[in-house]
Amino acid sequence: MSTQLTARPSDIPLQNLYELLQPITVPSSSTRASFSNWGHTFHCTPLAIFEPENEYQCELVLELARREGKVLRAVGVGHSPSDLACTNDFMLRTVKMNRVVEVNPEKRYVVAQAGITLHDLHAELDKHNLAMLNVGSISDQTLAGIVTTATHGSGIEFGVMSTHVMALTLLLADGSRVTCSRTEQPDLFTASLCGLGSTGLILHIHLEVEPAYRLKELQETLPFEEVMENLEKLVYSAEHVRFWWFPTTDTVRCSYSDRTQESKSPAGSWWWHTFLGYHVTQLLLLISRYFLFLNTWVGKYNCWLISSRTVGIDDSHLIFNVDCRYPQHTTEWAVPYQNAQACLREIRTWLQQENLDPNGIRPHVPVEIRFSAPDDIWLSPSYGQRTCWIGIVSYKPYGFNVPYRRYFGGYESIVSRHQGRPHWAKAHRLQPEILRQLYPRFDDFVRVIEDVDPRGMFRNEYVQRHVMGRPISGRFFKIRPV
Ligand SMILES: Cc1cc2nc3c(=O)[nH]c(=O)nc-3n(C[C@H](O)[C@H](O)[C@H](O)COP(=O)(O)OP(=O)(O)OC[C@H]3O[C@@H](n4cnc5c(N)ncnc54)[C@H](O)[C@@H]3O)c2cc1C
Repeated sequence: MSTQLTARPSDIPLQNLYELLQPITVPSSSTRASFSNWGHTFHCTPLAIFEPENEYQCELVLELARREGKVLRAVGVGHSPSDLACTNDFMLRTVKMNRVVEVNPEKRYVVAQAGITLHDLHAELDKHNLAMLNVGSISDQTLAGIVTTATHGSGIEFGVMSTHVMALTLLLADGSRVTCSRTEQPDLFTASLCGLGSTGLILHIHLEVEPAYRLKELQETLPFEEVMENLEKLVYSAEHVRFWWFPTTDTVRCSYSDRTQESKSPAGSWWWHTFLGYHVTQLLLLISRYFLFLNTWVGKYNCWLISSRTVGIDDSHLIFNVDCRYPQHTTEWAVPYQNAQACLREIRTWLQQENLDPNGIRPHVPVEIRFSAPDDIWLSPSYGQRTCWIGIVSYKPYGFNVPYRRYFGGYESIVSRHQGRPHWAKAHRLQPEILRQLYPRFDDFVRVIEDVDPRGMFRNEYVQRHVMGRPISGRFFKIRPV
């Protein structure tokens, strides 16, 4: 057995390979034998799901996929609001590949396995008085999940989180293991930093960090027009600036955060945030599902709940993270920063017209507006440009579906007109001919994935559709509304 455990995967007879994989194969009777994303919008039942605990087991899974001619799709915790992680072939869940391998406080980096969640990473870093440079709205995702989709936080001087990666160790389709960085195999590195899981299986991530810090966040509500007129000044007024725009009240909740030495003093209370903000809102959203006009009032109620000026001080990740609440339909596009005002104004004009129509669209969730610095990652939506991210959401109260397609369709046609690039983790309809115009290095990306993976072992349906242009419906894995 011990020789088998270290034998080269390609030398192991097929029957022995099955036996070695049996302990990490999810039984077909288990609820874990199928996959739904966090938002319950996409679902698949792969031929097999593996949950390896070490890198050798990953190699064995890859070897089986190679011999059986299957696609192998890695999945983190399934927070992508699209079918990005879905496959009908083999799925490899990374959640047990979740250790920190090395921490270097002097040189300010950490090396961690791909499947560690950001929550666990924050806790490990905290033990060494370190923290991530920037974080998005949640910390539930795996480290590989955020890297391979160029997940972003907010801050016009801060790149998407993949820009903080110093090196990656990948398991390639031919079974070899490579470490790439800006100096070692730079093309593979740049492609993998937003590689959509299609360059190889990420094993380790070498991430830049900084000494642990607290953030002081000031929040205030301003009229929409005031924010537009002073956009440049507001966006540069703090290190991390983000906005939540309530179209129903024509106001914007503005959040400005800066690093501080002051002591912790969190804002908010259980009654306000959890009872009124979560439970009462969810009930109102359920009622509005049947009486659509009530959505206007839910939007106003939510805006009122957070209308006063607040100041909170806490550990960085606790300020970066917000409560994303209920399962949801969501989409988000990255618009060149210089087009942000025009784009947001056009969305506003459209929603005002909808508001005049008794059956028009009534968004019940604020539009989230964030910013990031330019980068040089080939498929990053911030490639080569300062970026304004505009995200919309439709909540599904108690998991019930809500109408969203008209809202999302109207939004998408506006952001497209302003040269928007969709967030890769979120559902969109763009095909290679359009993506090629939006991403000057798109063909370089395709060249790299075809070089390292000629048979397309890591290219699932999403990648085949959007990157390779194969005719696979975007609704293939879509959960049908109840
Ligand atoms: C509530 C919520 C809040 C969010 N907030 C933000 C935000 O603030 N900013 C933002 O930009 N995005 C945000 N997202 C999107 C989210 O960050 C991405 O979808 C991210 O990819 C989710 O990570 P995951 O671990 O769930 O990955 P999954 O959804 O499981 O997988 C995503 C991709 O990663 C690949 N992958 C996973 N592990 C590996 C590996 N080891 N090797 C190779 N490929 C791998 C998968 O194949 C897939 O292509 C949010 C999503 C939700 C649901």
